[in-house]
Amino acid sequence: MSFSKASIRDAEVAGRRVLVRVDFNVPLEDGEVADDMRIRAALPTLELLRERGAALVLASHLGRPKGEPDPALSLRPVAERLSELLGVEVKQAPAVIGGEIDLMVGALGPGDVLLLENTRFEAGETENDEKLAEALGQFADLYVNDAFGAAHRAHASTEGIAHVLPGYAGLLLERELTELGAVVESPRKPLVVVLGGAKISDKIAVIDRFLDIADEILIGGAMCFSFFRAQGIAPGDSLVEEKGIELAAEALERAKQSECELTLPVDLVLGKSFDAATERRESDGVEVPDGWMGLDVGPRTAALYAEAVAGAGTVLWNGPMGAFEMEPFAGGTRTVAEAVAKAPGTTVVGGGDSVAALRKFGLDDDVDWLSTGGGASLELLEGKKLPGVEALLDKEKTDA
Ligand code: ADP
Ligand code: MG
Repeated sequence: MSFSKASIRDAEVAGRRVLVRVDFNVPLEDGEVADDMRIRAALPTLELLRERGAALVLASHLGRPKGEPDPALSLRPVAERLSELLGVEVKQAPAVIGGEIDLMVGALGPGDVLLLENTRFEAGETENDEKLAEALGQFADLYVNDAFGAAHRAHASTEGIAHVLPGYAGLLLERELTELGAVVESPRKPLVVVLGGAKISDKIAVIDRFLDIADEILIGGAMCFSFFRAQGIAPGDSLVEEKGIELAAEALERAKQSECELTLPVDLVLGKSFDAATERRESDGVEVPDGWMGLDVGPRTAALYAEAVAGAGTVLWNGPMGAFEMEPFAGGTRTVAEAVAKAPGTTVVGGGDSVAALRKFGLDDDVDWLSTGGGASLELLEGKKLPGVEALLDKEKTDA
């Protein structure tokens, strides 16, 4: 398997301090964690390290502060939630680095947990500043990256730090790489890829890669209108990304040379505007009249896609089929989500909104792997190397 990095399972951590980069970039509402999926996803690594007698210094970013403290983006609510989930006190550091933090770190004993403040309160984080990486390195004997959702960024706490401390993959990171890697490298066939979402430019590199790997790529979401435009089919007032039309034309051209089938919707659900209360109608065919916009794939398309999913050895789904946040336009996404949930093949879902859709329909427990990283999962599937992974120790080096 592709996973060639040193795992935390093989590291000696008893009595040592471990700096763990986690992805606690969670939504907050009224100063509380509104969704703790990402915190829960980090628990296995944190529990393993605590059981083995390590003291934990945790680092994460949250939102996009501008390189300086922003009280609205403090990790304090996360420390509280994590404390409940772990069942131990989680100390919250008032800053990322500095003399006060040195003292807090120095006081940690085996099993203790300290959460540093939002790493992006330091400008050096996104600049991958060596000095910040070195300062973070002072806190620990080894580094564990479990922040898959941030692994595609070369930041001080995701990449730079691994040049200061020996770096290991956490359990979540390892699982993400193994599950997503298997889709690309050793999928059970046929491999069926369902792609949707807003923008073709976000997903074109994935389409390109899977035209070489997959048996069928099924397109939904607003990005189908870039394909239709490229075919000269009028999109009405649908969301069309102008620069996507050229990309779509190229993909259609490449698909002709490929063994992989590239499938587009055959019917649509239209609305007058992007609004749940708008006038709605189903349209057999994919031409959209002016004054209307395509907001979902139609029932015939959804049924065809569901059938392809049911017959797949492996299913990769990324991107909703329509504007599923609005109930009148959620049907296509729900049908595909139900098909993915029921599919006998291996099912892997990536992308923040697709995962949100599955959870909204209560189907999130019925897929084999739900990726915690949107951008990171796309980059991995495109075949890009993730800087936060590359910088970790290679497996050989730890095999005794
Ligand atoms: P993911 O996060 O799963 O990768 P994207 O971020 O690419 O998905 O796209 C999700 C968004 O695309 C959703 O907010 C959804 O409303 C929107 N969307 C999907 N289909 C359409 C459509 N036909 N018209 C407008 N927006 C759409
Ligand atoms: Mg999204």
